[in-house]
Amino acid sequence: MARVHSLRRKSTLALRQRKIALLRHLALPPQGIRASVVERFGTCGKPSCACHQGAKHGPYYYLTQCLAKGHVQKFLLKSSSEQAAAREATTAFNEFCDGLEELSQINTELLRRGEELVGSVRS
Ligand SMILES: [Zn+2]
Repeated sequence: MARVHSLRRKSTLALRQRKIALLRHLALPPQGIRASVVERFGTCGKPSCACHQGAKHGPYYYLTQCLAKGHVQKFLLKSSSEQAAAREATTAFNEFCDGLEELSQINTELLRRGEELVGSVRS
């Protein structure tokens, strides 16, 4: 779910200034991945193993990515460097999307006010 920005009480100038700041800082993250990193603990096939008494194996980290309804890509992140790369990639993607969503909400509010969406941006 998108974060809702309360924009209705902000001045058009303030919206335009925030828009300029967003446009200045928003850049496609080259490493971006839309996915989640999930932590899992598990049991093994050995009946005598301590994992069946509660000391489960793990944590294991997986990257899960929902591509379409019922089509989820999931794989084990084997090394700590893969885990770190996955966390950085998903964080970068989410931050980009948050910025894009805020831009969208600002543009929606500007449109509602009958303002221009392109041009007429003074800094
Ligand atoms: Zn075990």
